[in-house]
Amino acid sequence: MSKSIAINAGSSSLKFQLFNMPQEEVVAKGLVERIGLENSIFSISYGDDQKYEVVEDIPNHEVAVEKLLEQLVALNIIASFDEITGVGHRVVAGGEIFKDSALVDDTVIQQVEDLAEFAPLHNKAEAIGMRAFKHILPDITSVAVFDTSFHTTMPKKAYLYSVPLEYYKQFKARKYGAHGTSHRYVSHRAAELLGKPIKELKIITCHLGNGASITAVDGGKSVDTSMGFTPLAGVTMGTRSGDIDASLVGFLMNKLNITDINEMVDILNKKSGLLGLSGLSSDMRDIDNASATNEDAKVAMEIFVDRVQKYIGQYIAVMNGVDAIVFTAGIGENSIKIRDLIISGITWFGCDIDKERNNTRSEAIISSDNAKVTVLNIPTNEEVEIARDIERLRKS
Ligand code: ADP
Repeated sequence: MSKSIAINAGSSSLKFQLFNMPQEEVVAKGLVERIGLENSIFSISYGDDQKYEVVEDIPNHEVAVEKLLEQLVALNIIASFDEITGVGHRVVAGGEIFKDSALVDDTVIQQVEDLAEFAPLHNKAEAIGMRAFKHILPDITSVAVFDTSFHTTMPKKAYLYSVPLEYYKQFKARKYGAHGTSHRYVSHRAAELLGKPIKELKIITCHLGNGASITAVDGGKSVDTSMGFTPLAGVTMGTRSGDIDASLVGFLMNKLNITDINEMVDILNKKSGLLGLSGLSSDMRDIDNASATNEDAKVAMEIFVDRVQKYIGQYIAVMNGVDAIVFTAGIGENSIKIRDLIISGITWFGCDIDKERNNTRSEAIISSDNAKVTVLNIPTNEEVEIARDIERLRKS
């Protein structure tokens, strides 16, 4: 049986899922955290609820990959490295180069590194992860799967900012979007559940996690998405502001005596959103719990719902219609209340939530039979999409 491993490398972490393919069965999954710091944490869950966890210093991603593979053998999850025939690496920024997932070679790794100016922390770590696998398992199929690829079908009118065109021409300053693998997975799954070819459908996918983005998927193609040049744009998120008037940046820098623009951008990325508004937490569960008694938490939640509704409205206009709206990711999949609030406020568009059907955290149609627009809850699965890409590109 052949196994494939999906890798998601962050600046100080490495997440993985090991699949039996083509069955798409998860054999093991785990996480290395605090890479490069003291007391790194390495955990694997496998089998029937079995868990391995160790705390030790893991100085870099190469060592993390080595330890991970050795431990898979030590725990008898695989008999030898030969069982792993494919690896898929999630990459945050693919720029305009990668319109689809790509087989990894030295040129691709170099290109991923060169794109680091669009996602400094991520792309560098991802390139290191690719090199490490190539070094240890040189002969397996290795693919890079980009968060941005799905959005490369956006037309110019969607991806260009209304600033002097030469900034796009010279510096590639434009909207790239993110979460593409998730939007791709849930939009295709929605078409399957609706029993219709995706080419005939207009779908709005709402990936609402700690990071959140909304995408208009027309005929299977992303035609617009709420994140921008970076993931900072769009709806209100856990710690990111989402869309703001750019003039606010200069105004606040003056008021706060901030001279380094990076410090200001950091505030917008890490101290804003639900956290900044509530002063309590970036986590929607905390906001929800506090909202009954805390006005700031209540308003933070209202703002979150409002921004998602506005993007849904925009994308109905962009596509001149909508057949299905999909909720996914931490908040989208789990918060019955947020889904209800969002859909109950946009009934004019032909949406109608069925409260009983909505009482779920699993894959389901949650709109009523009378609704013109089908609303679905679809847990995302970026890892399986990566594993499928390994199979697809292996055959190409
Ligand atoms: P990330 O972007 O880090 O992958 P996730 O997709 O895991 O994030 O989503 C995390 C968010 O999901 C948090 O805001 C968390 O509060 C929220 N979430 C998880 N479970 C629930 C729940 N039952 N109700 C409301 N929000 C939830």
